[in-house]
This record gives sequence, C-alpha cells and structure tokens, in this order.
Amino acid sequence: MTRTYFIRTFGCQMNEHDSERAAGVLETMGYRPAPDAESANLVLFNTCAIRENADNKLYGQLTSLKPLKMADPAKTVVVGGCLAQKDQGELAERVPWVDVVYGTHNMGSLPKLLAQADSASLPVVEILEHTEMFPSALPGRREVAHHAWVSISIGCDNTCAFCIVPMLRGPEKSRRMGEILSEVNALVADGVKEVTLLGQNVNSYGRDLIRAGEVPELGGRTLFAELLHLLGDVDGLERVRFTSPHPKDFTSDVFAAMRDVPNVCEHLHLPLQSGSDRILKLMQRSYRSSRYLELVTEARETIPGVAITTDIIIGFPGETEEDFADTLAVAQAAAFDNAFTFEYSKRPGTSAVDLPDHVDPEIMSERFRRLSVVTEELALQANEGQVGTVQQLLAEGPSKTDDTRFSGRTRTNRLVHAPMVDGWVPGGLLNVRLERAAPHFMIGEVTSADCDAPVVGPVPVVAS
Ligand code: SAM
Ligand code: SF4
Repeated sequence: MTRTYFIRTFGCQMNEHDSERAAGVLETMGYRPAPDAESANLVLFNTCAIRENADNKLYGQLTSLKPLKMADPAKTVVVGGCLAQKDQGELAERVPWVDVVYGTHNMGSLPKLLAQADSASLPVVEILEHTEMFPSALPGRREVAHHAWVSISIGCDNTCAFCIVPMLRGPEKSRRMGEILSEVNALVADGVKEVTLLGQNVNSYGRDLIRAGEVPELGGRTLFAELLHLLGDVDGLERVRFTSPHPKDFTSDVFAAMRDVPNVCEHLHLPLQSGSDRILKLMQRSYRSSRYLELVTEARETIPGVAITTDIIIGFPGETEEDFADTLAVAQAAAFDNAFTFEYSKRPGTSAVDLPDHVDPEIMSERFRRLSVVTEELALQANEGQVGTVQQLLAEGPSKTDDTRFSGRTRTNRLVHAPMVDGWVPGGLLNVRLERAAPHFMIGEVTSADCDAPVVGPVPVVAS
C-alpha cells in the first residue's frame, strides 16, 4: 500500500525551500502527498527557532498530534530543521513518542533515519555540525509549478547579536555557480517562470569560493552581480528575485544588474533592523542609518519604479524612546513599500541575551503597534501611487477570499487581485491596470491576457 506524507513548515523561505526538498526525498521513497496531518502515514514538522513563539507553537502542535500517534503507532512523526538543531536531545526527551529528529545539515539522511526508526523504540536522532550536502542537490517537489526557491548559499558568517541562525545553520557556504545555473535551467525546462535566490546574505555570495581559490576574483564585479547577469541569459526565465541582501555588503554593481538585466525584478528587500545608530552598534550590524538611507536613495535613482521592503526589530535590549523615534524617522525617510516588523525575542546562546536593559514587554508591544501604524500608512501611500498604472502580473492562483478573482504579483512583488478572464492560468503573464489600493494588496483589471506580449521592464509603465 502507498504510504502518504504531510509536511508542516514553520518560519522563513529557507524552510519552505527545505520542505520542498524533504517532500522530494519522500516521493523518491514512494510516499505520496496527503491532504492533512490526520490522514497522513508520515507527518514531518520542518521547524523554526528564530523567535520564541515559533518554539512554543511547535511543541503545542506536536502535543496535539500525540493522541493520533497513540491511536495509530504506525504513524511516523518526524521533526527536522532549526528547532531540532537547537534542542537536539531535549526535543527527544520532551516528545519521546516522535520517531525521527534531524537537524539543519542532514536532510539527505532522511531515508536512512526512517529505516532505523522502524526498529527503534526511542526517537532516532541525528544532528550534524556540518552540512553533508546542499539541500538543493536533493530531489525537490515544488509547491507551485511556476515558482522555485533556489539556494545560492547556506549559513551565515555574520554575528548579529539577536540572531540564532549562524549557530543553527553554520558558517556561510556558497554553492558553485555552475550548479546554480544547471538547477535553474532544469527548472525552466520544467515550466518554472520565476526563481527566488535564497541566502542569509546573498550579496556576500561567493566570497568563500574566491578565498578557497575555486573562482578567480572578477575585477571589480561581485560574484552575486555576475550571477544575476548570467541568470539574465536563461531563456524562458521571466523573473529573478533574491532575499536577503545585507546593507553592509551592498555594492553598486547589484543595483546596476537590477536595472540592466531584464528578468531581475524591481524589488529590493533590505533589512534595516533598527533606525538608531546606537542600537545598530549594539546589534553588531556594522552599517549606520545614514548609509542605509544612501542605499535607498541609490536604489531609487538607479532602478526606476523599484519597491523597497524591510525587516525591523522592536525592543532590542537597551532601546529607548529616542532610539525608537529614530527607527520611525528612518522608516518615514525610506518610505518603505512594505515592512516586516518583529518584537525582539530572546534567543538562548545569542549575545543579546546578556545585554542589560531588556525592554518591558508592554512597552515593546506598544512601540510595535505605533510602528505598524506608520508602516501600514507608508504601504498604503506606496500602493496608492501605483493606481492607474498598467503592470505585468504573474498569476498565482484563484483568490483565497473571492472565487470570481485570481491573484498574482507584480514585478515589484505587490499582491494584486483581479476578476478572472478567459485564458488566465497560474503561471501566466498578464497585463493589469491597478485600480484600487489597500496597504497589503491592490485590485486590478486585466487589460491584456496575451502572455506573449506582457508589459515588462521598469514600472510604472502607463498612467491613465
Ligand atoms: N539573514 C537575514 C538578514 O540579515 O536580514 C535574516 C534572516 S532572519 C530569518 C529574518 C528576520 O528575522 C531578520 O531580518 C530579523 O528581523 C528577524 N529576527 C531574527 N532574529 C530575531 C529575534 N531574536 N527577535 C526578533 N526578530 C528576529
Ligand atoms: Fe542572522 Fe545577521 Fe546572519 Fe541575517 S545576517 S542570518 S540576521 S546573523
């Protein structure tokens, strides 16, 4: 009988990418997808440890699965990823009825671990300290046909005081350019239109390859900019996105590539974290707010129509009302198109834990609300500025809230809902006139569903 699997993914795009690989590995073992955890023979939790509430959520969900496991001991429960790497043996002690626990470096061991779990009465735990093989080299099963995550590096060499990622994912290791290009070519041959390049710090891509003498220095151009140019030559690849660059490593050649390479989208996600120079220093982020704003200005001057989004942490230890006011001021000055805002979460093992003056949770929540008001207003203004323009939309699927509409994204990554028209298909390119704006989406009208003649290039393109 065919065994089935269900994967629940917590956290970031890197985890979504890893879940697609875990699904691919399971499918090569003969497993098929199940619609939910209840009916699946194998349930895999791909975990996140970036903030404390991710921990709590995982343990809560595992506990709610326990009765199902007790009723059906043949059901296999697997916990992988960042929280498994962080909690290691403790996880097996807290939830001893789990079958397999694996870390961030060894998803490729899944078949071996599942085979061992068949004969073991305790969880089979394997946590390695170093990556055995790039998850991208494993077979994958994509969530959607037209989009793929492509990992260009794993790990991180930075030491941001709040961040647990370097502890869990290890030092930065870049993937060879040839491997990235062959993966992208294979994806495009399989119908992919858009790729998102993933790395904790994409614009330091390849420095380790140069250090190891595997790649020669390119006189003056970074390997990341070079990669964007090479991806521009992949026939049939309509859109290239990337996340996340680090402000301290950003170079002008990347802005130039975003302007000059037609399939690289006009969207820059540039994490700010704080607008206060004092807090940036405590965070061990080596740029300052003036440098950050210079980058924003250079992006807007170089890349017509670029949308700029960011990550901001509120309530980092020592943050005063004055520091918070600096963050509000930088957010206003940068006029972000969108912002992901987080309350600071204490992560064991990171250096911020030992800093004095942790911010009272109530003050943190109150600042979080005030920042959200500002970022929502900025997002609304940015979207209102797009009303009347015609833009290229990559259709994603039916709208989740209105079955007469479909949803898609502009090159600037704006979510747009538009009435369905003949010929719309997930993965299709259409031209849409943007008619109404809300902070997190826009409503549009299809002007041409001719996929061969989409509006491309910098936006806005047509004002009515
Ligand atoms: N490498 C990416 C970068 O430098 O932007 C960050 C990756 S992290 C998965 C995504 C975001 O989570 C960060 O940009 C930061 O805003 C947030 N984050 C990380 N650690 C956090 C913490 N301890 N508390 C709150 N937010 C945190
Ligand atoms: Fe974490 Fe900083 Fe590395 Fe991003 S750059 S993963 S925030 S340590």
